[in-house]
Amino acid sequence: MASSDPPVIVLFDRDLRVDDNPALAKAAETGQPVIPLYVEDVDEAGAWAPGGAKKWWLHHSLEALGRDLKKLGAELVLRRGDTITIVSDIARKTGATGVYLCRGYEPWAPARERALNDVLGKDDITVTRTAGRLLIEPDQIRTKTGDVYKVYTPFWRAVSNAGVRTPVDAPHSLNGFAGKIASDTLADWGYLPTKPDWAEGFEDVWAPGADGGRERFAAFVDDAIADYDDKRNRPDLPGTSRLSPHFHHGEVSPARCWFAVLPLLDDKKTSKGAETFLKELVWREFSYHLLFNFPHLPVAPFREQFSAFPWRSDKTALKAWQRGRTGYPIVDAGMRELWATGWMHNRVRMIVGSFLTKNLLLPWQDGEAWFWDCLVDADLASNSASWQWVSGSGADAAPYFRIFNPVKQSETYDPHGDYIRKWVPELAGLETKQIHAPWDATASQLKAGKVSLGDSYPQPIVGHKETRERALAAYDKIKTSKS
Ligand code: FAD
Repeated sequence: MASSDPPVIVLFDRDLRVDDNPALAKAAETGQPVIPLYVEDVDEAGAWAPGGAKKWWLHHSLEALGRDLKKLGAELVLRRGDTITIVSDIARKTGATGVYLCRGYEPWAPARERALNDVLGKDDITVTRTAGRLLIEPDQIRTKTGDVYKVYTPFWRAVSNAGVRTPVDAPHSLNGFAGKIASDTLADWGYLPTKPDWAEGFEDVWAPGADGGRERFAAFVDDAIADYDDKRNRPDLPGTSRLSPHFHHGEVSPARCWFAVLPLLDDKKTSKGAETFLKELVWREFSYHLLFNFPHLPVAPFREQFSAFPWRSDKTALKAWQRGRTGYPIVDAGMRELWATGWMHNRVRMIVGSFLTKNLLLPWQDGEAWFWDCLVDADLASNSASWQWVSGSGADAAPYFRIFNPVKQSETYDPHGDYIRKWVPELAGLETKQIHAPWDATASQLKAGKVSLGDSYPQPIVGHKETRERALAAYDKIKTSKS
């Protein structure tokens, strides 16, 4: 078909890739000119509009998507404002006959998709909604009694038995739209920090975009998947994939990864690691399943009894936690890794989460909000489900009374203290035996390590033993009420 034919619009969201993008593939199949569109609609997301770190990622991700689309023959259009108004305006001005999109799962997505359908339907413009972001649709999977899964293990079994969506290839080419459509300039959106440029460290670690994601996945399969089961809990080793920001932005398709990893289950060397990796992908699915079916998950406890939990308010303690100045080396290392790179190892996310909600007795929503602003993978489903898991208020959560001992966690998962040395360099001179709990070191050991507690590095802001007891007492107050 010639480019002067009426176009179709592809509305991108967290599916910033051309491979295995069913909405783009269906639009290309029409043979009509394709207008790829990305709308920044911050009002719709409200408090969950992208935080600082994610904006940095999004800038580079949109740039990469724009390049990939251009190679196929279409120009990415960027616009800011109300999604429905912008899509219908472009559709009417260009005479578009259809809009294609991969469906969303955030609490605002169903209303947006319904409104698009209603508004555009009046002009006979069809809206085609496809799957694309997940392995399986959250409304497709139910327990035998028709309920929503609230426990992970049967959910994992159900996903592996149900069969994952078959990925679709990228179109060979796209028919570009010949007319002129106004587009914003990405640089004008101000997604990159300037003064101060706190994202300097991000560039050494990350390569946003589908190519960066593909390379990371290939390197993980070649170098790390065989040992993934053994090493994934070790923040001092490169044992995990670090694909989470690529998955979050939809640059890497989880379905592609699923099918690429499946054959590794049959190889003795890789089978355990491959199975554990697939299980982690399903933890991501489980989070989406919960968010979709319980849209209040980001703001209210899943277990209602936690509404009465006596959380404290303590701005000084919260700030010490955010800045990595709690006096607990493993906690501080994690919080500093987060600040410097926009990411934190999963084991350490659990440790800092337990410390915030149990030792400091501060609400999980405080941690969720800080992570939201600092993580390049900040994901409404995984972040809220995981914070609720850590605090004990979530579905299939860590029991509240299981309170991590940060020193024991540190000794077990950072056995040589290398992770702490990297992120808390003022402790680097301590022997491994002392680095996990410097307050137990003798004066001469501290001197030899060039550490002055309360000066070069903080004294612990709370004691583990007494705050553990305080947390258990707080839990006692709510545990008799019904969940
Ligand atoms: P890998 O170990 O390589 O796992 C592969 C993929 O599986 C990950 O990329 C991720 O997509 C998924 N995955 C792994 N673990 C989990 C999990 N526990 N829950 C859900 N998905 C998982 N993950 C996010 O993507 N965004 C978040 O905002 C987020 N917030 C979190 C907050 C807290 C308090 C905790 C404890 C965990 C959070 N996680 C979040 C989950 C997990 O920590 C990250 O997905 C993981 O650390 C990413 O590293 P990776 O890609 O190397 O993971």
